[in-house]
Amino acid sequence: MAARETPPGACPQCWQHAYDKSIHRKLKPGEDCQPCLDHMHNGHPYLVPKKKSS
Ligand SMILES: [Zn+2]
Ligand SMILES: [Zn+2]
Repeated sequence: MAARETPPGACPQCWQHAYDKSIHRKLKPGEDCQPCLDHMHNGHPYLVPKKKSS
């Protein structure tokens, strides 16, 4: 199954976690997702660049 392409301006990791629920389903109840927490506190290290329309 091919992952949905990350839209411009979005973080690939956060997009993947939001789109693929199975990633968070592996977490124990009450356990936080470390990659998501890291981006929440420190920001996203990489965002997909927006394509110029012209
Ligand atoms: Zn992110
Ligand atoms: Zn996550």
